[in-house]
Amino acid sequence: MTSDEKVILSQHPCFNHKVSRWFTRLHLPVATCCNIRCRYCSREYDCVNENRPGVASRPLPPRHVLKSVYNILSQDERIRVIGVAGPGEPLASNETIDALKRVHERYPHIIKCVSTNGLMLEDSLDQLESVGVKTITVTVNAVDPIIGSKIYSAVFYNNKPYQGIAGAKLLLNKQLAGIREARKRGMLVKVNTVLIPGINHHHLNQVAIAVKEAGAFIMNLVPFFPQAEFTLLPATSDGVLDGAKHELEPIIRQTKQNYQCFC
Ligand code: SF4
Ligand code: SF4
Repeated sequence: MTSDEKVILSQHPCFNHKVSRWFTRLHLPVATCCNIRCRYCSREYDCVNENRPGVASRPLPPRHVLKSVYNILSQDERIRVIGVAGPGEPLASNETIDALKRVHERYPHIIKCVSTNGLMLEDSLDQLESVGVKTITVTVNAVDPIIGSKIYSAVFYNNKPYQGIAGAKLLLNKQLAGIREARKRGMLVKVNTVLIPGINHHHLNQVAIAVKEAGAFIMNLVPFFPQAEFTLLPATSDGVLDGAKHELEPIIRQTKQNYQCFC
């Protein structure tokens, strides 16, 4: 482990639950649009991959972030991480880089973190590095394009729509390439996987193996909440979630949040 990674793990509560007693993170709701369509997504709320289901944030224009960060940091000394995780996809437009550039210039010592669906990760790494991002979360729900096509109805890349298996395959290739390249650059990667009963529940081993091989440090299983096209599927029970984490722990380290964090 590098000295940079040791510093991150000593301060980032999402990558090391042991420090969540002392340190916390602040999110900037600057990312407004998205470049994929998850069948469980209702755009009345924040990105389901990265946020608590049923909660919506009011978007914050990047030009206002410094005032907001200053106000919050002066009231809470425990903040060690500033993240962008929604309300849409952080890498689908320029707002995330614009906001984090402002924050990094003023607060270079604070860890910058981004949570993404991974489609634009590889293409955005130069910019992410230049604004001080050291930790990334990528949501990977399937590594089999047939299962992926049940979860994603469309993927938009370079102004072109991709649907069905073609869309799922493109997204998966971009996610794994992004994780590999982020890791090569010394970033720590967490993978979120939404456990969707009846869709990817029995596929999680394969996801864990593939993301571990690509270089992910830790995996976070996110409980599914029925909504949008998946309204009729059952929610993930605590028992199913705990059982899956237990099963995957030997493959890749699993998160152990002791506070509500879905990213
Ligand atoms: Fe919705 Fe997030 Fe999926 Fe985009 S990546 S469709 S915002 S859940
Ligand atoms: Fe936020 Fe997710 Fe990063 Fe934690 S890992 S700081 S919840 S973006």
